Amino acid sequence: MPEVVITCDWTMMSNHNGKEFLGFGTTTPAYVFPERVYKRLFYPDMPVDEHGYPQQAPYGMRKIEASLIDAGIDARIVHPSYLSRYMPGEAKVLLISGHDYFGLNPPSSTFGGVMHKETLNCLNFKRMLTQPCVIQARAQGMKIIAGGPCAWQLAPPTRLKLPWIQEFVDSFGGIDSVVEGEGDVYVREIVKKALADEFLPPHVVLAPKEAPKVEQISSIKYPSVNGLIEIGRGCCRGCSFCSVTTRPTRWYPLEKIEEELKVNATIGVRKGILHSDDVYFYGSPNVMPREEKLIPLLRLAKRYYEQVGWSHVAVASLMTKPKLLSKCAEVLIDDRQKWWGVEVGVETGSPRMITAAMPGKVAPFKASQWPELVVQAAGLMNDNHVYPACTFIVGLPQETEDDVLKTIDLIDDLWDFKALLVPMFFVPLGHLKSRDWFRRDRLSPVQEELLKRALTHGLRQSKVMLDDFFDWEGRHTTAYRGAFRGFVAFLELVAKMNGLWSPSSRPGRPITDPNRTPDRLPLPTIPLRE
Ligand code: SF4
Repeated sequence: MPEVVITCDWTMMSNHNGKEFLGFGTTTPAYVFPERVYKRLFYPDMPVDEHGYPQQAPYGMRKIEASLIDAGIDARIVHPSYLSRYMPGEAKVLLISGHDYFGLNPPSSTFGGVMHKETLNCLNFKRMLTQPCVIQARAQGMKIIAGGPCAWQLAPPTRLKLPWIQEFVDSFGGIDSVVEGEGDVYVREIVKKALADEFLPPHVVLAPKEAPKVEQISSIKYPSVNGLIEIGRGCCRGCSFCSVTTRPTRWYPLEKIEEELKVNATIGVRKGILHSDDVYFYGSPNVMPREEKLIPLLRLAKRYYEQVGWSHVAVASLMTKPKLLSKCAEVLIDDRQKWWGVEVGVETGSPRMITAAMPGKVAPFKASQWPELVVQAAGLMNDNHVYPACTFIVGLPQETEDDVLKTIDLIDDLWDFKALLVPMFFVPLGHLKSRDWFRRDRLSPVQEELLKRALTHGLRQSKVMLDDFFDWEGRHTTAYRGAFRGFVAFLELVAKMNGLWSPSSRPGRPITDPNRTPDRLPLPTIPLRE
């Protein structure tokens, strides 16, 4: 019986029907349909064993669990529906994690803000911590420590700014400590203190220089959701609104990656995602991808997984070595895999905004080349069977109406791009964390138009991509494909009835071009440091 229990809410403790991307469905409020319909579509329950231990769990939590186990601490991840087996009673410490506790991060803040309703992730997080077993255990002295990428939402400064969060925290008896940053090593120290009933600092912010070295990061002991495994951490591009950029770049050696691939493959996971803030950079000390590093990594992943996806890639990385993407496709695409997905941060169509807020995003190219780079990268991706989700930020500080119009123009250029375009309200993180949130009531007419255009593009392309997306074999496939097709048709109807449907008034730029010659694409203009 573990004395340290690690958990999260139901929206995260799910494999999202085997499609990580469907996890985005948990960032919306339940609209028209009851919550159980959304649960079925986007976050069905993860199977558990007789102890309530989930078959797969979110990767970041697996890392924390592994670190504690390596330190000789009796810790396990428990499904949120099974907490009452361990508390009140056995569990002395409860560690909680989440991607977006209160729906304040993008894109939850965009969906919740536009629809004026609590998002599903927020609803479920609150429900998880207000279970009677948690409240009773807390009253009996169980310690609660919060971490994860959205730990800042529970940190004292946020609670001071948003008193409704403090009220919620008080409703289940309070939190002992909130830890921000990479806690792989520090978690051992704070959990030992908690077990010894020593004083816990209410708020710990781990500085980038305290980020663990590769050899200090434990390898997961049990399978991760959708076979996701990390290949490295950190990003050197320096975007002002991003917290990742403050951390050093570290790449894991292939042996460490293989160790985790084996953990997932052991239980029969055959599809997985390679995670880093730019997979294309694997093993590179600068912004120039390394073929001799990346291709062996993909070959290794393909030995364990039939289908391999990427978590993130940057437009500029793809364009520095465009031919490398077709070499990646040669490794990944076969009779078991027809396409792969990835998240791409486009953020804006305005070169001016690139210079003002994210000059590193375009390196080694020039900011003025940005819209053209995005269109060329879109073509490159679709030509090589990559169907991405591209994020755009609405309401960045310094954004002008002209910047927004340029972004709309870029979306129009991308009208036939097989991708989802995801607009997100600006959230103060990274170097801009002292700035204010962007809210719905600040939306200008052109920003509203941008949201409508992206929604229309997304619904139009969703219909095109659905068949590729639901390519798995199994008796539920036809039913799920039908259900999602119906859901997309319903959203289109709602968008049209509410004046949210806004198709581009001109044809998009040609995207797919089988005769594309990457040599003719713009080349890096800045010399690279080794
Ligand atoms: S490229 Fe992406 S991960 Fe890197 S700093 Fe910019 S937003 Fe963050």
